[in-house]
Amino acid sequence: MHDIEAIGDLLRHPHRILITTHQNPDADAMGSSLGLAGYLRQKGHAVTVVTPTDYPHNLTWMPGNDSVIAYDGKNRTLVEGLMADADTIFCLDFSGLDRIKDLGPMVRTATATKVMIDHHLEPESFATLAYWDPKAASTTQLIFKLIDQLGEGELINADVAACLYAGLMTDTGSFRHPSTTSEVHEIAAQLLARGIDVSSIHRRIFDGVSIDKLRLLGYVLNEKLRVLPDYNFAYITLTADELRRYRSKTGDTEGLVNYALSVEGVTAAAILIDRVDEIRLSFRSVGNFSVRDLVSTHFNGGGHKNAAGGRMKLSLAETEQKLLAILPDYQEKLMAV
Ligand code: 5GP
Ligand code: MN
Repeated sequence: MHDIEAIGDLLRHPHRILITTHQNPDADAMGSSLGLAGYLRQKGHAVTVVTPTDYPHNLTWMPGNDSVIAYDGKNRTLVEGLMADADTIFCLDFSGLDRIKDLGPMVRTATATKVMIDHHLEPESFATLAYWDPKAASTTQLIFKLIDQLGEGELINADVAACLYAGLMTDTGSFRHPSTTSEVHEIAAQLLARGIDVSSIHRRIFDGVSIDKLRLLGYVLNEKLRVLPDYNFAYITLTADELRRYRSKTGDTEGLVNYALSVEGVTAAAILIDRVDEIRLSFRSVGNFSVRDLVSTHFNGGGHKNAAGGRMKLSLAETEQKLLAILPDYQEKLMAV
């Protein structure tokens, strides 16, 4: 699905545009939203970025952040009004309306032209136009290519470039995941040529960690990381009470699962978090072991081969039991990597 020309035609005349992205936005979600917003504003469009939830402090430096509206239930009337008024709605870095919580039904029923730009597998067909490429390392890579292929690369100024670089850097795990192609590095080089400060972007995203988050990490590594050598599997569980005890804020659990994956010999890892209304699961893997297959079969979710997420309406203990019960089915594949 590469409706690039049609998207270009749609953007020819200034109009009202709403951009949204997935819940608990990460740097690719915010970077693609604010990068696209920065480009569209230069073309004279009236752009609003609406996120389905809030997002962590380390993403608030991006140019354009001040005008982002984070949906919180209380501003429902405002957000419904923006949806109703929008001529075009861009849906970035997700391709299923269940990924945007309460905004899902609003987008579904909106009369606006819907444009989906994403790199996740198995997209839903809710959009009028789409630029979808599951081989892309990040959605910001697709935003770069869209603008470039529309012949407007000169509108990628330093502000837009900083947003796009942030998504490219983080979704490739700082240019080390298998998604890091020569094209990724070529785009990174072009973004650098726009005058961005790479080390400052890296620092803003990865440093400045709160002491609460570090203490939570210490606790998790000491007390909550369980390694199952018979399955080359490691996992972490976190109760709602533990999150409260460590004053956990949005994003504080981000990256914990990578510590489980980094254990010597581990092929796949998971973190199970009690978010009160549901259990959120995050899986990561190395090599050919597909956590997307595992999650889509057993845990109501999806994602990519090496990074996937899902959710369960069971208790935390029941979800953990379910995970332990299915591991034997995957033992051979887990041990083969
Ligand atoms: P994370 O574990 O960081 O939340 O997500 C890892 C990957 O899985 C991301 O690409 C994310 O978009 C995808 N993902 C996370 N949760 C879900 C979900 O509930 N459904 C689907 N389809 N994908 C998800
Ligand atoms: Mn992404």
